[in-house]
Amino acid sequence: MRRTLIAGNWKMNGSFAANRSLLSEIKAGLPANLLCDVLVCPPAPYLVQAVELLSGSAVMVGAQDVSVHTQGAFTGEVSAAMLQDVACKYAIVGHSERRAYHAESNELVAQKTQQLLTVGVRPVVCVGETLEQREGGQTNEVVAAQLNAVLDVVDNLSDLVIAYEPVWAIGTGKTATPEMAQEVHHFLRRQVAVRDAGAAEKVQILYGGSMKPENARELLAMPDIDGGLIGGAALKSRDFLAIIAAS
Ligand code: PEP
Repeated sequence: MRRTLIAGNWKMNGSFAANRSLLSEIKAGLPANLLCDVLVCPPAPYLVQAVELLSGSAVMVGAQDVSVHTQGAFTGEVSAAMLQDVACKYAIVGHSERRAYHAESNELVAQKTQQLLTVGVRPVVCVGETLEQREGGQTNEVVAAQLNAVLDVVDNLSDLVIAYEPVWAIGTGKTATPEMAQEVHHFLRRQVAVRDAGAAEKVQILYGGSMKPENARELLAMPDIDGGLIGGAALKSRDFLAIIAAS
């Protein structure tokens, strides 16, 4: 039985004051019998603040990206070891915004995944097709290429979290129907199963793309949807808590 993971991707939002309010509201609103794992991914300068504010709570902290390099003269980069050092448990890699705005390739995302696994930070590997690719019938081909580049370099596949985020659904208010999402999640799990059937049963596959309180329950009820990677709705405590309650 896979545990549900509800993860908030704050993107480039937040401030000391706003984070303090948001996290205290989330902490106060968590159910006493929390049945899922909860993760927040603030921007890098606020990781330490989030770790401190969440100490003693069940909510974990993750990063939104990581350097492909281990250490040294790479101005502006943050290494996997640094994320591990500040108690990040997870890091997102291959988000579509990084693939689009920073030209991140499947191979680069695979190398970032390796960096994280080396230090024991769990990667949340994002895959997803654009609208053009979906309309061109290329969804499976695109997500398989994105995922397989990562699977090729990872030994223990159950160390991964995968997030299916159709690009056309991110921040647009358009959500994949539960059936559409389930179809791709099932396909992704089969990609893992080809290499390791045991890991395929264990690996969590999150859905991301305009998940909100109104659609979370239906999406999370699908057999291969093991949680959510949530952008906009993760910045409002009421919405984030409602998604947690729906899991
Ligand atoms: C995301 O960016 O990971 C995301 C899913 O955003 P939103 O929920 O706002 O669509």
